[in-house]
Amino acid sequence: GAKAADASAPAEPAAPAEALEGEAVSHKFEAETKQLLEIVAKSLYTDKEVFVRELISNASDALEKRRHLQLTAADASSAHAAESELQVKVSCDTAKRLLVIQDGGVGMSKEELVENLGCIARSGSKAFMEQMKGGASGAPASSSASSIIGRFGVGFYSVFMVAESVRVFSRRIDSADPEGVGYCWSSTGDGAYSLSRATNVKVGTKVEISLKADASEFASQYNLERIIRKHSSFVTFPVTLHGERL
Ligand code: ADP
Ligand code: MG
Repeated sequence: GAKAADASAPAEPAAPAEALEGEAVSHKFEAETKQLLEIVAKSLYTDKEVFVRELISNASDALEKRRHLQLTAADASSAHAAESELQVKVSCDTAKRLLVIQDGGVGMSKEELVENLGCIARSGSKAFMEQMKGGASGAPASSSASSIIGRFGVGFYSVFMVAESVRVFSRRIDSADPEGVGYCWSSTGDGAYSLSRATNVKVGTKVEISLKADASEFASQYNLERIIRKHSSFVTFPVTLHGERL
């Protein structure tokens, strides 16, 4: 309807924007992470759109963890989420070339942001690296890279195929920080990331992507709808695009 043309207007009343607090601390990626990033960002260009699936699948995993916590928490009230939080919310701003994927999942602590997004200690990524390097098994080349991504779950890094920069705001469900305080991990994917404390952060994770000029198609509501329907139709939590459930 008329809404589709209005891709740059947020559908929900604007929540207070997250703000960085204090000094951002810069960290270098591990050498191998850097290498992995380069491979993912530069040689997997044939099927760029799979990064959307990877981010939505991470959001869904985090929601699953939160739901599990909610079911098992001794003090149910501490982990209880409103139904409206147990969603993956996607929005874009065409003019600003911005794409946002937000979930009300478990969220990440500062340490988890570092561990999960700054290292490739996880076995899946290691296996991926070996395949991409053409290890013992005579690894497939980049043509099937997206299936390799799927199998080994280097998911998050695929965002650097399209991102000029990425900011990840996160607050753990069990955070002991004052209300709204979380952390912001940000990177341009070129060897370093920076971390800072942030305010107005909701429980869960918000991935904010500034798209490269040649990836502006991912800030199109129409295109996103197609991609989400194609790759993320089996996600068990509601996925909304500008507030409308897909
Ligand atoms: P995988 O999903 O296979 O573990 P990814 O690279 O996609 O690999 O993600 C790395 C890790 O970062 C995840 O295992 C998870 O711990 C963390 N992570 C990524 N996205 C989110 C998110 N939206 N919420 C909470 N944790 C996340
Ligand atoms: Mg993943």
